[in-house]
Amino acid sequence: MSTPGTAERPLCVAVIGAGPSGFYAVEALLKTPGLNVRVDLFDRLPSPYGLARGGVAPDHQKIKAVTAVYDRVASDPRVRFFGNVKLGRDVTVDDLRERYDQIVYAVGCESDRKMGIPGEELKGSYSATDFVGWYNGHPDYRDLPFDLSCEAAAVVGIGNVAIDVVRILAQDPEILARTDIAEHAVSALRKSKVKRVYLLGRRGPVQAAFSPKEIEELGEIERADLIVKEDEIKLDEVSKAGLCDASAKKNYDYLCEAVHKGAGSKDHKILARFSVSPVELIGKDGRVSAIKLERNNLEPDGKGSVKARGSGQFETIEGVGLVFRSVGYRGIPVPGVPFDEKAGRVANDNGRVVAAAGGPVVLSEYVVGWAKRGPSGLIGTNRACSVATAATMVEDLKAGRLAQRGVDASMESTPRLLASKGVKVVSFAQWKAIDKLEVENGKKAGKIREKFTRVSEMLAAVDAPAVGPKA
Ligand code: NAP
Repeated sequence: MSTPGTAERPLCVAVIGAGPSGFYAVEALLKTPGLNVRVDLFDRLPSPYGLARGGVAPDHQKIKAVTAVYDRVASDPRVRFFGNVKLGRDVTVDDLRERYDQIVYAVGCESDRKMGIPGEELKGSYSATDFVGWYNGHPDYRDLPFDLSCEAAAVVGIGNVAIDVVRILAQDPEILARTDIAEHAVSALRKSKVKRVYLLGRRGPVQAAFSPKEIEELGEIERADLIVKEDEIKLDEVSKAGLCDASAKKNYDYLCEAVHKGAGSKDHKILARFSVSPVELIGKDGRVSAIKLERNNLEPDGKGSVKARGSGQFETIEGVGLVFRSVGYRGIPVPGVPFDEKAGRVANDNGRVVAAAGGPVVLSEYVVGWAKRGPSGLIGTNRACSVATAATMVEDLKAGRLAQRGVDASMESTPRLLASKGVKVVSFAQWKAIDKLEVENGKKAGKIREKFTRVSEMLAAVDAPAVGPKA
């Protein structure tokens, strides 16, 4: 048997997950000098792009333009896309091990962290990621029953996801209607009664995880005032020192400006609160009706920052019928792939999958993106992360550190397997046909794109046959 990675026998790689980190892994492998490689890229949805399609907010179209780079990667003749193929449902890890020299998991973080407070299970309490998936037309979330008939909503956490959710709730729906927001979301937002949106940070403005551009966008919403309480952005000594960070300083300066603008007269209000933690969601008839907060004292954490400690002073905000926890994403285990429960991601050592945290390496298996590092960083952060893992893969290949197994590396092997299982595979060409239809449907509706929000609709649109993807 010839060595994988040569002209006679290209290295066969499966990448699981066609989000940014998956595409960057493919790109890095294709660009590796002297490496003969072919890559099969799998996604559980018929559509590629992961969070660039299902996570990035509809009014952030410039960020979504990154998909043009992914299209170029997918058009390389060494790459095949297998859409609508889910690991654990349609193929197993063993199926992949029989067909690929190396496997890369680029499965992201599909769940979220909980707050762990009473009332979190009430109706009206959601994860921000559910709402994001819903307004972005992700098929998993399109039927969620968001009831926007309350007067106030609260978003817990002060990262960029929280800001996205606040902005979508506070923005004029007619502005959003021109984007690629899902139709079901814009029609619900048109009927929304939410007038006050609380953004709740457990620590201070200097510790905020949002970016300056994001908080500034909140202040620019024409129909909403951004309200900040002066006493909540007073800085302790540690936080003052934190202002040497350029982003923290910009955030802080912007919030100070907001303090000076006062309460304003617009009919929608965004109330950014700091040093408060929700301690209970209060319910009425099984639904959230108020949120109880505890004021925090910020204390040095011994690592150059501050930690929040409850002060024993409480307040209740009435009228809050919707609570979105936005306290971080979390990975979910993929059948057959070792999972680090504590960290909430694929168990790995610098991108090499390990049998358990701190355990031995699982040869020939790798991980990239949020599934490797956890849910942090912008889309571009994933490029460096995937490049690093690809370099590790090549290093292992050169050192002969591959699992010793017979691999059926023929081009037909995977399409044949999927056809035998009756999987309706969507090729990249078919995805581009779906993409074209979405843009055409959008044009008719006066928007950038009208997404298909059900897998069945996407499959019907291309009449995907139960055979492997066409070349
Ligand atoms: P994140 O940046 O990690 O922010 C999580 C927030 O939750 C932090 O403010 C954190 O506060 C808070 N938090 C955690 N546990 C909490 C608790 N028990 N109670 C109250 N607050 C709690 O996460 P994210 O917003 O989900 O974003 C994930 C990544 O995607 C980030 O890198 C983000 O920049 C990126 N993203 C970027 C964009 C964009 O560029 N437009 C949009 C969306 C997402 P502490 O700091 O006190 O822990």
